[in-house]
Amino acid sequence: MAEKQVLIWNEALETMPRLELETLQLARLKEAVARVTATVPFYKDLYAKANVSDDDIQSLEDISKLPFTYKQDLRSHYPFGMFAVPVGELRQIHATSGTTGKMTVTGYTSSDMEIWAETMARVYTAGGATGDDMIHNAYGYGLFTGGLGFHIGAEKIGATVIPVSGGLTRRQIEIMRDFGSTVLNCTPSYALVLSEAAAEMGIDLRTDTKLRIGFFGAEPWTELMREDIEARMGLEAYDIYGLAEIIGPGVSVECPYHTGLHIAEDHFYPEIIDPETGDALGYDQLGELVFTTLTKEGLPIIRYRTRDRTIRRAETCSCGRTMVRMEKVLGRTDDMLIIRGVNVFPSQVEHVLLEFEELEPQYVIYVDREKDRLDTLEVCVEACQPVFAQGEAVLAEVTRRVRAAMQETLYVSTIITVVEPGSIQRSLGKAKRVVDRRGLG
Ligand SMILES: [Zn+2]
Repeated sequence: MAEKQVLIWNEALETMPRLELETLQLARLKEAVARVTATVPFYKDLYAKANVSDDDIQSLEDISKLPFTYKQDLRSHYPFGMFAVPVGELRQIHATSGTTGKMTVTGYTSSDMEIWAETMARVYTAGGATGDDMIHNAYGYGLFTGGLGFHIGAEKIGATVIPVSGGLTRRQIEIMRDFGSTVLNCTPSYALVLSEAAAEMGIDLRTDTKLRIGFFGAEPWTELMREDIEARMGLEAYDIYGLAEIIGPGVSVECPYHTGLHIAEDHFYPEIIDPETGDALGYDQLGELVFTTLTKEGLPIIRYRTRDRTIRRAETCSCGRTMVRMEKVLGRTDDMLIIRGVNVFPSQVEHVLLEFEELEPQYVIYVDREKDRLDTLEVCVEACQPVFAQGEAVLAEVTRRVRAAMQETLYVSTIITVVEPGSIQRSLGKAKRVVDRRGLG
């Protein structure tokens, strides 16, 4: 692999020898377990019932003796029942709405805010951003952690931040061009919206702007989507990962070698488990990601089930970081669709679609159940303009080939509907790609 320019924000911690790092993690884990037992009634009860305490943690593997924490636990202690400090000690509160149920609330003490800024500074630096950059932050500001997380990280590295937030797409393009934005932060689906809008405005993002780096996350995306975004925008795309329950963005990020996302393991301890049995899985095994916060004060959380599916890699990385890597999130354990008994992941559908250059990367998956109780899977996708303009016969041929490719990958028959470019509703944040109508009528 060719040598890359590597920048590291916190060399002492990010390249710490594994043995030293694991000693630090173990000490912090014991402290965290003792702290939540003393300060959060939920954990006190949970550990009393399971008959475990910090004394049972003699090695990092002993973490598996502790019960899991679920999103539902945060919801049922809404709003502040899981906090480990009095509310007055919090400096900032965020919340995620989710699609169902109550909001999940998270709070940060001064120390938590410093950890967040530190891990976000690591994210920016891993992608090569420095104090000289003009950072165009198009993640939403507000209760969502994306906007402010990327904001405080930009401040930490001493860059200039444009807090543009989401929306007003055409104005975003003008700002990018006129202010000289060099770094773009947004969801990958919004990056596509931006590139489409720029094309309509006659602006070539590759030559008319100074964009050089993009930090894209908050939803799963594929390698083909990365290539597409890089080609349209003329930047290097970095995958980032985080979740509000753990800290927000800042949990992990790719380095210039793009061989997975380095996890800030000195603060967030990762495990991979079998989502069915809860058993620990090793490196290189696909399973559900589980996180324990090792240093957080406001909302410490132990063995949190993220529902995200990925693989952990332990091999050393050419960038010098010793922190383990996780692969791009492959989807969520709870967004798997079961169609006529076959497991289908939306990421598989996207993968097939992106292989067709006749199509735009804009699609919606509809799942429905017919009167005879058979499930139907329909994929509605946009043709690109030149193909659409060629008319019905060409579109029918494309449809036929997409259907065959889909069948080969998913092992389930699919209705493919190819529609006019621009006709699928665009999202300013996380794209809603799946509409499951089963059980609605
Ligand atoms: Zn690396």
